[in-house]
Amino acid sequence: MKSKKTDWKLPAIILLALLLILEMADIYRLARSGDTQPLPVLMYHHFADVSTDGTVVTPGRFREQMTALREGGYEAVTVPQVIAFVREGAPLPDKPVLITMDDGYGSNLTVAAPILEETGMRATIFSIGINEGEEYYAHSGEPMWQHRFAFEEASPWVEKGVIDVQSHTFDMHQLESYGYSGRDGVRRMRGESAEDYRRALLDDAAAFRERRGDRVATELLALAYPFGYYDMEADKIMGEAGYQLTVTIDERMNRLRAGDEACLRMLGRFNVTDHTTGEALVDRLDHYFPDLAESKK
Ligand SMILES: [Zn+2]
Repeated sequence: MKSKKTDWKLPAIILLALLLILEMADIYRLARSGDTQPLPVLMYHHFADVSTDGTVVTPGRFREQMTALREGGYEAVTVPQVIAFVREGAPLPDKPVLITMDDGYGSNLTVAAPILEETGMRATIFSIGINEGEEYYAHSGEPMWQHRFAFEEASPWVEKGVIDVQSHTFDMHQLESYGYSGRDGVRRMRGESAEDYRRALLDDAAAFRERRGDRVATELLALAYPFGYYDMEADKIMGEAGYQLTVTIDERMNRLRAGDEACLRMLGRFNVTDHTTGEALVDRLDHYFPDLAESKK
């Protein structure tokens, strides 16, 4: 009698344990791929036939990088897509990448945009409001280093969905040492009251919004902090100014979570130089998509 009871108990316990393991595996899988999503953000600046430093990428290298990303299964996403994932749970591609370019150089349109189109990729450009379409710097009167496109020049690319143009501030792309604004990027100046500081940032954001107006067909949603200077106070004010997504120059990966709008703020970015091969770029990003990188092999 006693041994019969044991015979019945043991398989039941094994079955229950098996079910528990399966359930846990399921929860684990959901937690990994359900409502969270890694998002690498790449940073570029100028494009030219000769690379003089880490901010200049040659067309050949850029084409190689974009082709490698595409072949590695990456899909370039837009700022509105990223926001929709977080706010509404709208699905993103399995391997999304947000490609960004700072300062609004003409080469973004003449060199990079055709390569983006050819490889099926897209990018978000952060343009400096006061320099847009200008030939001379407003403060020094010196000729500008490289052509900065006027918003209208980007229109054909914006219409095709290859390019979006967002904010790199109106006139805060300056260092205190330049001797004009007295401030480093969007940083609060010594002795500046909290209210004066808040007003300065809101005024600058309003100036950018006004200059952009309806000259760019997309919605103004994102801001890149000049020189990567930012803090919680600045970011809170920029949120008030209507920027739903902000990016820094901190080299780190981002993890998006549906329903958590804080994950859209102060995103890290990987600077991509002319020394980065397409293969090295894909290897670097694949590190953050271990499951998908595995299934490829
Ligand atoms: Zn910049």
